[in-house]
Amino acid sequence: MKLLKLFLVVFLQIYAKATPSVLIVGSGPAGIAAATRLLEHNHKNIRVLEAENRIGGRINSVFFGQAFVDLGAESCHGQKGNVVYDMVKNLGVLKHVDGPRSVYHSSRKEIVFGDELLRIIDGIYGPDGQRDEDEGKSVGHYCLDKYNASIYDKYRNDAEKFEIAKASVDLFHHIVLSYEGAFSWFEPSAKSDYRDCEGDLSLNWNGLGYKTVLEVMMKKFPNPSEQLPFDETVLLNKEVVKVFWNDSSSHNAVTVYCSDHSSYTADHVIFTPSIGVLKERHETMFTPQLSEAKKDAIKHIGFGAVMKIAMFFKHRWWESERNFTGFHFVWSEGDKSRAFKEFPEGPLKDGHSWLTEFFCVVPVDRNPNVLVGWLTGSMVPEIELMTNETLIDGLEFVLNKFLGHKYNITGPDSIIRTYWHTNPHFRGSYSYQTVEARKDKITAEMELAKPVLNLEGRPILQFAGEASHPYFYSTVHGAIETGFREADRIINSYK
Ligand SMILES: Cc1cc2nc3c(=O)[nH]c(=O)nc-3n(C[C@H](O)[C@H](O)[C@H](O)COP(=O)(O)OP(=O)(O)OC[C@H]3O[C@@H](n4cnc5c(N)ncnc54)[C@H](O)[C@@H]3O)c2cc1C
Repeated sequence: MKLLKLFLVVFLQIYAKATPSVLIVGSGPAGIAAATRLLEHNHKNIRVLEAENRIGGRINSVFFGQAFVDLGAESCHGQKGNVVYDMVKNLGVLKHVDGPRSVYHSSRKEIVFGDELLRIIDGIYGPDGQRDEDEGKSVGHYCLDKYNASIYDKYRNDAEKFEIAKASVDLFHHIVLSYEGAFSWFEPSAKSDYRDCEGDLSLNWNGLGYKTVLEVMMKKFPNPSEQLPFDETVLLNKEVVKVFWNDSSSHNAVTVYCSDHSSYTADHVIFTPSIGVLKERHETMFTPQLSEAKKDAIKHIGFGAVMKIAMFFKHRWWESERNFTGFHFVWSEGDKSRAFKEFPEGPLKDGHSWLTEFFCVVPVDRNPNVLVGWLTGSMVPEIELMTNETLIDGLEFVLNKFLGHKYNITGPDSIIRTYWHTNPHFRGSYSYQTVEARKDKITAEMELAKPVLNLEGRPILQFAGEASHPYFYSTVHGAIETGFREADRIINSYK
């Protein structure tokens, strides 16, 4: 009997060593990447716990109108060294999309030199963070200095153009915020570790949605019969509220508790929720608490929110030309101040209506009756709380104000909209490097990525997700690389 017991213990130890259990918190691109990598390496003892009732996280492709609309990530940024591009390049699913090139003024006219203004903006602010700037300056200060010098140089002898160019600084601000995901352009650092992948930075999914890359990872696309066993692996509506870790254990070192009172124990946990979730919850989530260095990293990584509203119009009032790329909006100072009087509904900040955060409208692939409006800036959290009715009325007001002289505008018949800041499972859209974070010795992203090890040096609590990527943070390809990184960390520790 004793011998049998001993045999059983040894067998269980060998079995546990060979098939470690892994919990992945979150089924966004990082979580799905980690799960697929583990499954492909025959690590079958895994579970993904997802708080929402769907997988995908900040990839959220919703069928609306005649095709999928991306309420979260929509573009594959770059080709060379981009894991997303590499996974799908032979499937014919990506298509280049141009950003809007026409700019309209609130005095109901098209700005004829709008394209020139956009070229000045593009020239000053490329999304890549390698700027000819000293440390310590915000992207806002950097852009303002360069922009003011450029427009003075170019338009100082033409009073009308100079006035319009000055007013266009707000458009510049909104464009920068759509890349940085911040509430103000004085928060992100001008110099950053962010890197662009070479090649086309604006490849969209031709009506299929960014979800395609998740399907490719799960082997559901292009051949569904090869699908990895995800249905059994992912548990939806499982909001993790507590993570208990014990670094003196070699097995079952981590137990997580969910808001539905269920609990799960595993040898390893890969935690992927956004930096917004970590900022809000890390103190109540982890026992013992995370290290001071990790807490500082969580504090210093920047996180704001952008908002998208997809609008369906039964009657398409804009041109159906193939090269229609959308509209940008520039408010004059006077119209900006008057907007709240003309449309008194909705939030107001520093005397300006929420309407002035609505800065561009773009078409959607294979979706002839849908336009997507973008709003950025510090009012986004309040705008997210508005009713659909007020939003629809406000959008119609703005469209009429800028384009009413040229088109027979009707308001949207229905909308779908984002709540990235309001939703407790995201609390924002994508991360950026703050001026503050760049003072730290090692970058906050790299600090976040460090795993908690047990006394044997094996990882037990690991962090993946876009904000933990040293230079592709804020992107899907960055998030996926971090998921692979943490899965490989586990795989390699059992070799
Ligand atoms: C509006 C918008 C536009 C974007 N555009 C682009 C773009 O064009 N190109 C690009 O590359 N990137 C873009 N991004 C960024 C990109 O979507 C993210 O970088 C990427 O999705 C991050 O993936 P992740 O796995 O790190 O996190 P997430 O996608 O946030 O996944 C984390 C998962 O964890 C879950 N979760 C949270 N809390 C808990 C909990 N307590 N318990 C269990 N589960 C939990 C969440 O529900 C979520 O599913 C955009 C994002 C937004 C919001």
